[in-house]
Amino acid sequence: MTTLHDILIRQIATTGPITLADYMTQCLLHPEHGYYTTRDPLGSAGDFTTAPEISQMFGELIGLCLAQTWLDQGAPGAFTLAEIGPGRGTLMADILRATRAVPGFHAAATLHLIEASPTLRKAQADRLTDHTPTWHDSITTLPEAPLLLVANEFFDALPIRQFTRDAKGWRETMVAVQDTTLIAGLSDPAPIEMLDHRLADTETGQIVETCAPAAPITAEISRRIATYGGTALIFDYGDWHSRGDTFQALRNHHPVDPFATPGAADLTAHVDFEALALAATGVTHSAMTTQGVFLERLGITARAQTLATSLTGTALESHIQAHRRLTHPQEMGSLFKTLALVPTGAPLPPGYNQ
Ligand code: SAH
Repeated sequence: MTTLHDILIRQIATTGPITLADYMTQCLLHPEHGYYTTRDPLGSAGDFTTAPEISQMFGELIGLCLAQTWLDQGAPGAFTLAEIGPGRGTLMADILRATRAVPGFHAAATLHLIEASPTLRKAQADRLTDHTPTWHDSITTLPEAPLLLVANEFFDALPIRQFTRDAKGWRETMVAVQDTTLIAGLSDPAPIEMLDHRLADTETGQIVETCAPAAPITAEISRRIATYGGTALIFDYGDWHSRGDTFQALRNHHPVDPFATPGAADLTAHVDFEALALAATGVTHSAMTTQGVFLERLGITARAQTLATSLTGTALESHIQAHRRLTHPQEMGSLFKTLALVPTGAPLPPGYNQ
């Protein structure tokens, strides 16, 4: 059987080395062999676990945050409730459960999911049987209406390019073939205009990464929020500036060589939140906040204590562990960040500051 490894070796041998972005796109979304196309990667039996899969508290608090934002903006009578990269649908299911008691919220919402993977679309449909989502390939086909959108660990799955600073410019990481294996190499140095602004804060030998699709997606989300109202809550690992090599592959919850098994490991890179903020034109963005601080501000400790009263034994242990994983600085609390977008002049969602 032909594997993605065979396909890439043949392609690169014929047309030359490819960028990391091309490599990531094929590995994650190849129609036959792509990582997301062919499997459900989440949970303990998968390759990685995300915040909503760790605890229902994550989605519940985000649901209440969205509902408060909707109320703060005058409770528009018809709006789009959307998630981009919804995984198994767990986060959206928790958002919907937590907002059931908010008068008028469900009646005003129509549910839209932007998802590239047929396998995960099926998982989302199974998870959200009480609702009737519409699926989209891209953000551009969402209704023209107020938009409440959430993205958790979506932007880290978008393809990046990676550049190492050199005395004469930047050398790009390229995927090449050596004998019958895929290896990473560096291109000849060249000036790269889009990285001119990084000359001030980097030195020779340092690495920066760029994510081309992130800006148009953020700009399109922002256009809708600026025009019709709403908010976008973005969660991911990363920082204000991209710095260093953050390209990584995870398989079975362990880091692996990203070039060894294309299509069989999850590939991600840290998110450059400043790039998202710069692309968010026409709207106001919050300060970038750590996930731990955001969840604490929304009252995760009180929620955790309430849930704990009905738990005993190992269920209680794992609940305490989940609270710690989501918020502790040595777990997801500091590595993961969040940014909110709102119409200029509108109050920021609860949990965010200017
Ligand atoms: N938000 C979920 C899943 C995160 S995994 C959670 O927190 O559990 C990344 C998600 O983004 C998956 O659903 C994946 O299929 C989707 N995805 C990746 N690239 C995409 C793209 N280009 N367009 C739409 N969805 C994409």
